[in-house]
Amino acid sequence: MSDSAFRVVGLPGDGIGPEVYASACRVLAVLQETHGLRIELDEQLIGGAAVDAAGDPLPQATIDACRRADAALLGAVGGPQWDGNPAELRPEKGLLRIRAEFNLFCNLRPIVTHPALHAFSPLRPERLRNVDLMIVRELTGGSYFGKKWRDAGQAEDVCRYTAPEIERVTRAAARIAQRRSKRITLVDKANVLETSRLWREVAHRVIAAEFPGVTMENMYVDAAAMHLLTRPADFDVLLTENLFGDILSDEASMLCGSMGLLPSASLNEERFGLYEPVHGSAPDIAGQGIANPYAMLLSVAMMLRHSLDRPAAADALESAIYRCWSDGVLTRDLRADGLGTEAVTEAVCERLHGAASAQTTA
Ligand code: NAD
Repeated sequence: MSDSAFRVVGLPGDGIGPEVYASACRVLAVLQETHGLRIELDEQLIGGAAVDAAGDPLPQATIDACRRADAALLGAVGGPQWDGNPAELRPEKGLLRIRAEFNLFCNLRPIVTHPALHAFSPLRPERLRNVDLMIVRELTGGSYFGKKWRDAGQAEDVCRYTAPEIERVTRAAARIAQRRSKRITLVDKANVLETSRLWREVAHRVIAAEFPGVTMENMYVDAAAMHLLTRPADFDVLLTENLFGDILSDEASMLCGSMGLLPSASLNEERFGLYEPVHGSAPDIAGQGIANPYAMLLSVAMMLRHSLDRPAAADALESAIYRCWSDGVLTRDLRADGLGTEAVTEAVCERLHGAASAQTTA
């Protein structure tokens, strides 16, 4: 048991964001009891809610609060009522700005399949067995951020990477690989792209010099796109640049069956992280109490592991979630007679309490 207090900025956001955020708060309250965590939650505005209340999708007060915090936990942003806003007043701008403001260069998307959910994936169950991979995507460089221009008949998006940008994300991937099977697949297009050739040179140099126990293989992005569907269980840590990571992580998300199951983290070099479900604000189901909270709860587990350094609490939460899946505790996006957000949250909390008291009795 530890009594160190962590500061977490809570960003409920829009649509189902506040509903899944409430689920996270409930589970964090239980983890404080069962795992001796002390977490100070500082709730702030972001997205459309912030535009309405403060005229800015990322108010200064939110930035200031994040500067004082160990991590931020975001629900989701966006909704049709803000779709006509000018670019600077769009909810999504809040998300883009927080990533830039805190230099969140390392995006993590774990893809874990569970036997109880195999039926919801478009892939055959035998392909899904033992899939447990971590996609590490560089998030602040490459063609998304390079110089852009166009005239009537031509356009250009410059893809630029520097050695330090590649070094820091390679180190982040290697530290994650050290806690897993110590294998990284570097995905690129080095047969065609100069940036990919720099990635290979720099990433292998970092691994050889600083991570002697870690091995790194190379794979072209076209082959990786295929292998993610034909033999996904062979991947462990997949490291790649921004554009390839964007596409491959969405492809890999289909292995799990529902958007409501996928967590993510975006980290900087100081271990500050923004943790959020991969899904959006789902305006079509907002306010009905039926949002799937698992992606958010798995994001909480990632926060405990990557920014708060509390792996035992993260393991306990993930185990409680997996037990719920085995017991068929699912929301309506997965089965017609599924439970609501609160009932699923309660089921996770019960299993957390149950595991903690079993440990005390043992
Ligand atoms: P979405 O992820 O919000 O919804 C896609 C579909 O998946 C919908 O049918 C929705 O009901 C369902 N869904 C998503 N999450 C679910 C959950 N937890 N439980 C049950 N069902 C769930 O994507 P969209 O409809 O393209 O976008 C809606 C809004 O969200 C837009 O304004 C978009 O800009 C925004 N968005 C925000 C983020 C973010 O905050 N990170 C990400 C993507 C989209």
